[in-house]
Amino acid sequence: MLDLAAQHAPLIDRLTDKAAEVIRSGRYILGPEVVAFEREVAEYIGVEHAVGISSGTDALTVALMALGIGPGDEVITTPFTFFATAGCIARVGATPVFVDIRPDTFNIDVEQVAAAVTDRTRAILPVHLFGQACDMRALLGVATTHGLPIIEDAAQAIGTKSPLGPVGSLGAYGCFSFFPSKNLGGFGDSGLVTTQDPALAEKARVMRAHGSNPKYYHSVIGGNFRIDALQAALLRVKLPELQGWTLRRRENASRYDAAFSTSGLDESLLRPPLRRFEGHVYNQYVLRTSRRDELQAHLQAEQIATAIYYPVPLHRQECFAYLGYLEGSLPASEEASREVLALPIFAGLGEARQSRIIDTVIGFLGQ
Ligand SMILES: *Cc1c(COP(=O)(O)O)cnc(C)c1O
Repeated sequence: MLDLAAQHAPLIDRLTDKAAEVIRSGRYILGPEVVAFEREVAEYIGVEHAVGISSGTDALTVALMALGIGPGDEVITTPFTFFATAGCIARVGATPVFVDIRPDTFNIDVEQVAAAVTDRTRAILPVHLFGQACDMRALLGVATTHGLPIIEDAAQAIGTKSPLGPVGSLGAYGCFSFFPSKNLGGFGDSGLVTTQDPALAEKARVMRAHGSNPKYYHSVIGGNFRIDALQAALLRVKLPELQGWTLRRRENASRYDAAFSTSGLDESLLRPPLRRFEGHVYNQYVLRTSRRDELQAHLQAEQIATAIYYPVPLHRQECFAYLGYLEGSLPASEEASREVLALPIFAGLGEARQSRIIDTVIGFLGQ
């Protein structure tokens, strides 16, 4: 699905020099590399404030904690996402309220968000899934009407632009991940919280350092949610390449789109993803097919890697059984879980490899 060794090969000297520099510096916790990375990545994203965090999961936790969300509170989110989105809501003691997705973009259905607001709702947590922006105009409309903050899960969407502006700059907080498979991946775990609001930025900084400011004086209970200096330093080496990698992901997506939309196959057999906004960064290219499991098995036999994001929607996960969502309660998410298949889309895929994938997919489904 992703060839990180090939991605790192041309950068290997700069990466190892940078690692050696950090090791010699003796500064491993926060410090100048973290400050520089936060400034550079904020500029890349197009946001005022960026706070380096230990992971994308912890970035969501920090955002929820900084907004004071906890027991008795409800947070409206999507069930069609990586587990962390809803796991973090439950971890701070709040209740995830799942609403269904749009079948065309896989993103949260804003009309259903509006219908799910109660007097216990404290935030809306949409996900810019696979790198495509949610309908932020509509979401901000609902949020403003009800006086609710939005926490954007932008873990898969670094550099994504919505028509209103960059993702991560539109809600109260944006949360990013540098897990190795993300568009900007580190060498281990790390993440980021972004905001346009200096007071919210300060709250996130305090929260990531055990709620202390100054050191050893704790006004709130936080945690150890700091990004490693080593991760920040290595991410600084990779960040200047991200724009180019993103353009190549988009080109790869366009090549799949062109081939699949002219394949002559019925929509139920092969449906390429809808690119609703130009600023899509394609962390994943996810098609739909009624023959998903057979197609995946065939591609595997042909040595073509694929993945299923996500096989079980979160409202049907065992750990959320206590929430009481029955089979059929969120049908668009459940149907997507049965039909989605992610194809390789990474920048270094190459035309020859991609052509073979395209031919194998269309050849199999056309039989
Ligand atoms: C990757 C991811 C996360 C979690 O990020 P980690 O850095 O792995 O903790 C959260 N939400 C979504 C949508 C993700 O894809």
